Amino acid sequence: MTDTKVYLLDGGSLVLDSYHVFWNRGPGGEIRFPVYSILVEHAEGRFLIDSGFDHDHVMKVLPFEKPQQTREQTIPGALKLLGLEPRDVGTVVNSHFHFDHVGGNKYFPHAKKLCHRDEIAQAATPEPFEVLGYSDLSFSAEAAAARGKGDQLLAGTTDANSRFETIEGDVELARGVHLLFTPGHAIGHYSLLVEFQTRRPILFTIDAAYTQKSLETLCQASFHIDPVAGVASMRRLARLAEEREAELMFSHDAQNFAHYQTGPKFYG
Ligand SMILES: [Zn+2]
Repeated sequence: MTDTKVYLLDGGSLVLDSYHVFWNRGPGGEIRFPVYSILVEHAEGRFLIDSGFDHDHVMKVLPFEKPQQTREQTIPGALKLLGLEPRDVGTVVNSHFHFDHVGGNKYFPHAKKLCHRDEIAQAATPEPFEVLGYSDLSFSAEAAAARGKGDQLLAGTTDANSRFETIEGDVELARGVHLLFTPGHAIGHYSLLVEFQTRRPILFTIDAAYTQKSLETLCQASFHIDPVAGVASMRRLARLAEEREAELMFSHDAQNFAHYQTGPKFYG
């Protein structure tokens, strides 16, 4: 395996009540948490996993999440810090289609796009309690049309250039880069395990566990379609991290994120 590098693209932050982050556990009170995307530079290509939130969308639809995002925290801005542009990314994978993971997809009409088999249909016809989660449909002309949200599409977005290839179960995206099917938070949710030549693997829980405390207490966020599956996914990730001696990284953990390397610094 040639040297794989992982960059974290800082995407700004949002606010939620802690009772949402730690479902039925809390304690309550507002917490501000980070949002980031993962760029994997690999011998087989550049892979972007997730694309953060779109500031304008959040201000319009979920202003109570109080988005903070500088220009350098947009997807084009974060890539620029690495000397890259969206066209340098060949493949975009969405762990799931909640708005804080798809906001920058619109910048990648040229890229191959991958998601779980069931996620597009879920975004197109979400359960009532998932409507705000799946509120940014700009990633897919098909999903936007199904929800009557064609106005969200960036000019030039078509069925053809926003089409996804679908996958199911665990998938090796590139050698040593594993998408792990971890449903619960969303119907087709993926976590990510990246292996390296010279350091221990990193296991990105993504939203199967927002924070370290979430995983340690098996306490998922209140946003989910199947909380029982969510607990099973968390147990699986904890077991896998131990077996593989992997470094765990969490999706929305302000305390841990303060120590994560972002910008041009990388893991590898
Ligand atoms: Zn999220």
